[in-house]
Formats: sequence, structure tokens, C-alpha cells
Amino acid sequence: MCVEGLDDAEYELLKRCREVIGPDVLVSASMDLHGNVSRELAHQTDLITCYRTAPHVDVAETKERACRNLLYLINRRKNDEAFRPYKAWVPLPVLLPGEQTSTRDEPAAHIYGEVPAVEAVEGVIDAAIWVGYAWADEPRNRAVVVVTGWDKRAVSDGAEKLARTFWDAHKDFKFVAPTGTFAECLDAALRSDKRPYFISDSGDNPTAGGSGDVTWGLTQLLARPEFKDESGPIVIYASVPGPAAVEKAVEAGVGATITVTAGAEVDDIHAGPLTMTGRVHAIKHGDRHASTEVVLQVGSVYAILTKLRKPYHLERDFTELSLTPRSADIVIVKIGYLEPELYDMAKDWMLGLTPGGVDQDLVRLGHRRILRPMWPFDREFKEPDLTSRIIDMSNESLA
Ligand SMILES: [Zn+2]
Repeated sequence: MCVEGLDDAEYELLKRCREVIGPDVLVSASMDLHGNVSRELAHQTDLITCYRTAPHVDVAETKERACRNLLYLINRRKNDEAFRPYKAWVPLPVLLPGEQTSTRDEPAAHIYGEVPAVEAVEGVIDAAIWVGYAWADEPRNRAVVVVTGWDKRAVSDGAEKLARTFWDAHKDFKFVAPTGTFAECLDAALRSDKRPYFISDSGDNPTAGGSGDVTWGLTQLLARPEFKDESGPIVIYASVPGPAAVEKAVEAGVGATITVTAGAEVDDIHAGPLTMTGRVHAIKHGDRHASTEVVLQVGSVYAILTKLRKPYHLERDFTELSLTPRSADIVIVKIGYLEPELYDMAKDWMLGLTPGGVDQDLVRLGHRRILRPMWPFDREFKEPDLTSRIIDMSNESLA
């Protein structure tokens, strides 16, 4: 997370938890690999681990590992054995978006591929690599390796091995799909005969930290002449929050033609609230993220409007709104890399480098407070220090 006024929010949270639970309680943390692990955060935990896949298909496994290892420490303590393992922490001067570091692709595939072998070494409990969070501007934002275990040498060697593999590949990270401006993506989709053609409106991905209510993409889309007529190519756009627009659509009912205004209540930097006239195609209540969703057909565009923001990751997110993405021409989602169901459905895909809070063009965001040098913000590097910093809490009171 990122909290205004706090440079290391997770550390602060855990420090305050420690004030309640005291220094002696064992703490195991399970994280998204897109988080940041400062040395101070690692120090507040006994165990700290993260996902090994992006897209994250090992969420449950990671939680289970964090719990299982915690029980293991609790049992050691019961048996009067050493119960506070060493941690080897290695920061890397690399800060990349998830869309260049998917474990579906190289080089992240082989970097994360080394984790199980490091973890399997005698004396190691867990090994973890954080890519870091690229869209906050704090000194802690960077990639980090942490290896935890009883054998100081083994955790140190393991962490240095993972850090070295990561660093050796730092110039090889590329976007997971062809990229372009939004207009270039639309042009490519219109030219293509691959259907459905997916486009990621990636600058406003709410699961990456975007507000989700940027109207820039939908505004550009509705301005295109190709989609003005109902007989044009079928485009599904997911999504823009607009509680007042949703309420109006619900009142009018399916089939009614209405004029509504939605979006840009949180993020209006790139485009203001969007007013559109269309026919209410579908209404759905009870979604756990969006609460209420409506689909407004404007020309040949089916725009999903929500009461609260929602990421669209599953086929049923669409089919439950009477939309059939498999038979659409173009499906546009506020996502970076495509989640598995959409990835499997897409016959082709481009990553739109669209503006928003989680702009994939990191360098143009103008970070000022991250440590330098930092790849890819800086291109000239001296060899970084990839030696392990050992965090030893075995004889230490956290108080
Ligand atoms: Zn993540």
C-alpha cells in the first residue's frame, strides 16, 4: 500500500501491531510479490514470504505456506528449540511494472524458477522475491530478495544467488504483450481478423492502484467514427464507475435510452466526467465489488458502468451482464497483463500505454524520491552490492 505521509506503511502497520501483541509473538507475513519489503519490515516479522507467480495463481498456496511455517516455528518454540530464524535480505536497484515481470514470460520465469531449489537447501525455510511496487514514489520501492532459515550461510548464499540471477537479467525485461498508444491499439484491432481482440487500458488498472475511474480511454473510444453506429464492430469496454449514472439507468430500466455522466470523480487529471447517451443493455445487482453494474450501449460500444469500481477478470463478469466477449470484436479492460481466463479467450492482445495513476511508462511519471541509480530510470550502472544483509533476531527483543 501507499499512504500519504508514511514512507513505509506496512512497516508502520506491523510496528503498531507489535505494540499490541508484544515482541514475543511470532509473526508470519504473506504478501503480493508487487509489494515492498524494507529492511525494517523484514525485521518486524519472523517469517515473510510472497507469491511466486504473476498473474497470481498461487495466492492460496502462499497463505498456506506462511501458516504452515508459522506453525512449524510455534512447535519448535514449544519444544524449546531455536524458533527465530535468520533472514537474508538483498535489495536490488530495479523497479519494474508487473507487466514486464510476469512469470509466464522470460526472464521472470527463470528467476522465479530458481526459488524452489533455494528453498529446498538444508537449513532454509522459505525463499521469496519481491518485484516491488512501481507506482509509488518512496525510497523503499525496489525489488528485494529475502531467504529465511536456520543456517546463516545457506540463507545468505540462497539470497545472493536469487539476487544475482535477477540482476543479470535486468536488461531483458520487456512488456508481456505488444504495446502502443490507445489509438494504435484500436487501429491494430480494427485491421486484425483475430476475434476477440483484447486491449488493456493499463494506465487505470484498479488492481495495480489506479483509481479505476479515469474516463480518458472510454472518451477516446466513443470519439472514434468506426463505433458511432450500432452496426459497427462490437466493442466491450470495462469499465467506468459512476454511481449517479448507474442509479439513473436502474430507474429507466433495460431498453430505455438515457443520457448519463460518469467517472473522473477521483482522477480527473487526463479527462473529466464523461457524458454519453445510450440504450440500457443490462442491469445487475449484488456484485461484491461493483454492487450494481449496468451496460450502456452507445453506438456499437457496450460500456460497463458500475456503482463502485471493479476489476473485470473472469468470463462470467461479462456473461452475467448479457455480454458475450467471445463473439465481440474488441474487448477493452482496465487491466495490465490479462488474467488467465481472459488470456485464454483473447485471440490477440495489445497493452495500451494509456495515461492514469499506474501509467506503464514509468519514466514519464517523474519519480523523485526513489533511490538512485535505479533501473530503468538510470541506464548507466556500477555493479550493485548484492551481498546479503543478515537480520538476526535469535537473541533479540523486538521491543
Ligand atoms: Zn500483484
